[in-house]
Amino acid sequence: MDRDRERAEVVIVGGGIIGASIAYHLAARGIKDVVLLERELFFGAESTAKCAGGIRAQFTTPVNIQLSLLSIERFAAFSEEMGLPVDFRQVGYMFMSTTPANWETAKKNAEFQRRWGVPVEALSPDRIKEMVPVLETSDLIGAHFCPIDGLGDPHGFLQGYIKAARKLGVRILNQRPVTGFVTENDRITAVKTPQGNISTGLVINAAGAWAGQLGKLLGLDIPILPVRRQIATTDAMSWIDPRWPMMVDNGSGVYMHPEGSGLLMGMANKAEPPGFNTNLDEDFTSEIVMAAIHRIPRLEEGRVATAWAGLYEVTPDHHPIIGMHPEVSNLLIAAGFSGHGFMHAPATGQVVSELVLDGKPSIDLSALRIERFSENVAVDELMVI
Ligand SMILES: Cc1cc2nc3c(=O)[nH]c(=O)nc-3n(C[C@H](O)[C@H](O)[C@H](O)COP(=O)(O)OP(=O)(O)OC[C@H]3O[C@@H](n4cnc5c(N)ncnc54)[C@H](O)[C@@H]3O)c2cc1C
Repeated sequence: MDRDRERAEVVIVGGGIIGASIAYHLAARGIKDVVLLERELFFGAESTAKCAGGIRAQFTTPVNIQLSLLSIERFAAFSEEMGLPVDFRQVGYMFMSTTPANWETAKKNAEFQRRWGVPVEALSPDRIKEMVPVLETSDLIGAHFCPIDGLGDPHGFLQGYIKAARKLGVRILNQRPVTGFVTENDRITAVKTPQGNISTGLVINAAGAWAGQLGKLLGLDIPILPVRRQIATTDAMSWIDPRWPMMVDNGSGVYMHPEGSGLLMGMANKAEPPGFNTNLDEDFTSEIVMAAIHRIPRLEEGRVATAWAGLYEVTPDHHPIIGMHPEVSNLLIAAGFSGHGFMHAPATGQVVSELVLDGKPSIDLSALRIERFSENVAVDELMVI
């Protein structure tokens, strides 16, 4: 292995949106002796590439809302900060309620969100119809809409972070899987790769759905499970309006947003067992399409153009794990975003760099410590789609 790759102050494992954002933020704050290791040929080839691009602040816990609000600010400033045009559209997220019980819960969630600074509005079925005339509203009680939410291009943001980090001096290496660790007492002294060991003072586990596997190489139990999630898109249709928001049907769970001149549709299969399977389940694609047609009957005119499956990286409470590991003194975990890792990537890069440099991040991360599970103090995020 060549000499300048033998050592790095920080080694980040995982070149998805989270690892890329952390690499950029560390380098921007002056820690430039950083190596970002990705086992695949392309950065962001796993969950980041499968993402629907949704960005929202409508969550049910303070820490998720804070991660979102900070991220939204940073998404909005990204193009200027990086000198790079990237697609980010604050078209809003609309959560539609179909039952009185769901409406009551949604109203309480919205009150909570407003207290934390999220500008959520309640919409009547008439107002929903005005905003998106093709929606079937006869069985809706109402919706909650947040205008600062929206959509972004995961690939554009990932590439922006990678390019900027590289320019600042970060060594960004593809096809470099971490296969093991060298440890001494409670510290990692080096990461092992097929191309040789890299000794380091700090390892950041940003391996997404594989973060648990990476932990096992150290004998650690990091509770992050991979779970397959699917998406389908339609061909272009002249009546689809790119100004429509992300639309979520709380009844079926289907979510939809304009994608190019077509529509993107996704839905969680609640019966999906954990596992690394990313084969497309054609039957489930049909279920997604049927649920979408129920809400937008005109979709019957369309055709499925593409469909794919990817992995959510799910923790027991649907919050990420961000923080130092209590047993390995130089291991920091930033993984397990439970399907919200794109929207939380800008804030995560920032708070991780603050944790490393200042010891005190600008968002209180105590709710995201891994110890919350062993201490039985984890609080579930309830708005998960
Ligand atoms: C269908 C679908 C829709 C989604 N929609 C949204 C959405 O609308 N909004 C949103 O915010 N999020 C969404 N998500 C979730 C989002 O994609 C993820 O939360 C996010 O991409 C996680 O980023 P990451 O960097 O942690 O993981 P990844 O992008 O998976 O990156 C982890 C990387 O680590 C690498 N790696 C693993 N092990 C090793 C190793 N040993 N050595 C080196 N490298 C390794 C992997 O190859 C991978 O590239 C969606 C996900 C799916 C599947």
